[in-house]
Amino acid sequence: MPMSIRAAVLEGARQPFHIENLILDAPRAGEVRVRLAACGVCHSDWHVATGDTRQPFPVVCGHEGAGVIDSVGEGVTALKPGDHVILNWAPACDECFYCQHGQPNLCATFTDPLWEGTMLDGTTRLHRADGSPVYAYCGLAAFAEYTVVPHQACIPVRPDISLVTASLVGCAVATGVGAAWYTADLKPGLSVVVIGCGGVGLNTIQGAAARGAAPIIAVDLNPAKLALAQQFGATHGVLSGGDALAQIRALTGGRGADVTFEAVGTSALQEMAFAAARPGGTVILEGLSPMGTATNLPGAVITRQEKTIKGSYYGSVDARRDFPLFIEEAAAGRLKLDELVSRTWKLDEINDAYAEMLTGEVARGVIVF
Ligand SMILES: [Zn+2]
Ligand SMILES: [Zn+2]
Repeated sequence: MPMSIRAAVLEGARQPFHIENLILDAPRAGEVRVRLAACGVCHSDWHVATGDTRQPFPVVCGHEGAGVIDSVGEGVTALKPGDHVILNWAPACDECFYCQHGQPNLCATFTDPLWEGTMLDGTTRLHRADGSPVYAYCGLAAFAEYTVVPHQACIPVRPDISLVTASLVGCAVATGVGAAWYTADLKPGLSVVVIGCGGVGLNTIQGAAARGAAPIIAVDLNPAKLALAQQFGATHGVLSGGDALAQIRALTGGRGADVTFEAVGTSALQEMAFAAARPGGTVILEGLSPMGTATNLPGAVITRQEKTIKGSYYGSVDARRDFPLFIEEAAAGRLKLDELVSRTWKLDEINDAYAEMLTGEVARGVIVF
């Protein structure tokens, strides 16, 4: 049966979120309905609000969610009502070229429809009373009391952990820790620079620390973020701008770092990450840049200095393997997850939550239902 739910809706770019009652259809074949417990306040949703991410409107954002399965559609056997799950914004079909080649984060089946804001069949489960569609950012629409998603977008986890903490695994932790462990495959003693100490950057730092990388040099505009970065394992903090590159070189034998990460998604910082890598070093681009932007990474230098540029999408993770792994690593004290949650908010406070995210004082705010 369709149900009425409260959700945070964006009517168009450069407008605030507003809270509205929407109709949520029952899950169809292969889909499940999730009662959200929590959803993190991530910068990617803000790119929709500013118009930097192309997205049909009206839309419900929210892609860093966790909750409890409420009902399952026809043919779903892997999940049942009551299961605790983390939402996965890059679900894998198991059948396409990428899934068959160990890159489920690049699955070709789901990417296009989910980024159009619909289910695989091109329709939405959310609509208004007049029947007009309301789109789901990343196919998740987790800034809502309930959501309907493909069952592959739900990763079951043990029920004894906080769903508030677990929600962050679905974006910031996967993207950041995954980039350090999988995309970069960091080893003990490698020198690392992480540019941008938001949710993704802090997780890259703690992933690098867990792998024994050293030094780990955090770079940010905001001194408060650098202090936070040290709590997550950074050995040094460098304020961006000014002589940041000179400071990084001074900390890395005059060469630059073995591996540099750009965790924001802006051209200027990507160019800085390139300059901060040593000859023979690797540059990991993990921050999502607005589509259509370009970055000047000079081929003349890439060749002569043998630098490697690697993209990292969702931390190169296999969500079904890695979400439960990250939870176990946290339980064993090797990753800090609870510490990432600096503040919780109610759904009605979502505009305030984004205002605070933009001031850069917090690790992660989380909407709790
Ligand atoms: Zn995110
Ligand atoms: Zn696939």
